[in-house]
Amino acid sequence: MTQPPQTDPSPSPVPLRDLWSDNHALVEHRERIALRLSQLAILVSSTMWVYQFVSGRMVLVWLLSAVTIFLGLNIGWLKLWQRPFVPYPVLTVSMAATACFATWYQGYYGVFWAFPILFGAYFLLPRRQATLIGAALTVAMTAIAALKVGWPPALRAFASMGLTLFMIAWALGIIAELQRALREQAITDPLTGAFNRRHLQAELARLSLPTQTAAQTHSLLAIDIDHFKRVNDRYGHAEGDEVLRRLVAAIQARKRASDLLFRTGGEEFMLLLFRTSPVQARVIAEDLRERLESQAWLPNGDSVTISIGVNTWRPGQGVDDWLVGADRALLDAKREGRNRVTMAGEFD
Ligand code: GH3
Ligand code: MG
Ligand code: MG
Repeated sequence: MTQPPQTDPSPSPVPLRDLWSDNHALVEHRERIALRLSQLAILVSSTMWVYQFVSGRMVLVWLLSAVTIFLGLNIGWLKLWQRPFVPYPVLTVSMAATACFATWYQGYYGVFWAFPILFGAYFLLPRRQATLIGAALTVAMTAIAALKVGWPPALRAFASMGLTLFMIAWALGIIAELQRALREQAITDPLTGAFNRRHLQAELARLSLPTQTAAQTHSLLAIDIDHFKRVNDRYGHAEGDEVLRRLVAAIQARKRASDLLFRTGGEEFMLLLFRTSPVQARVIAEDLRERLESQAWLPNGDSVTISIGVNTWRPGQGVDDWLVGADRALLDAKREGRNRVTMAGEFD
């Protein structure tokens, strides 16, 4: 994962190609939605069953019996095993075929069923599949309506179904974009654009340290600005904020794309260096420290210095121990006079 730039909370317009993206907001809630849809659909199909039975249309009665049984099994499967009786694509295609058959048998009445099916497909399937099945249903419905009731209603069916399809796909694209922007905000520090403390915990958990071997050694750098309170006192809080932003920009420019920078407190940061030995981590830390020291940061040409504690993960070490070790090394660096790099255990 690469470090995000300063976040912009407003979502960008949805590019057309995103309409083909397979992940969208609804898919994460598929089983819950499928259960509700099946319950609603069984209500509709059993009501229709009674109506068609009374009207004496036995072909439709048999078809609706099959649909109702099918939906009943689906509800049972979803409740018991959180998966459908038949795969979602088969379910959606069967529904679409039933609506087409109804149009063939009864004329344009059947077209009305196409709309909930177009919507339902997006609740149950990845966007690409839903769009393909929706487009196929639109074409099939138009052809059947043209044969049975003539072109004028068929073309209206085509236009209204096509518009519906396009609008659902578009709306889902916007939801996905909003969701992405919210996720990014939730893990980013708004002042500096570095990741926040919450995301540090998530990334450390993702490493699943107990399964790691000695060959995959990672290092943590605990970074703290020296005498930052003085910067605020002398130049004001706004200038202090500017220093924080420039510090983050300087670290981002130096680190590898795969390394992750987190703001863990006011003027405290953690840099997570993947697959980095203690020797390499020390070199990087020293380089960072020297770069900052040699830059004029403040209006009068003063520089800002940082202290860094380095702790390299050892097999068997837990996340908390690893973090505490880095913090202790940082405290050692402060105690030894600041503007320096200290390795964990150096003063034990
Ligand atoms: P040390 O070298 O021991 O780390 O000294 P220090 O002054 O850097 O540390 P201390 O913990 O005493 O003070 C940290 C200061 O950081 C105090 C607080 O006003 C400032 N600070 C915390 N968050 C922010 C921020 O978001 N913006 C600004 N401008 N200052 C902040
Ligand atoms: Mg400080
Ligand atoms: Mg501090």
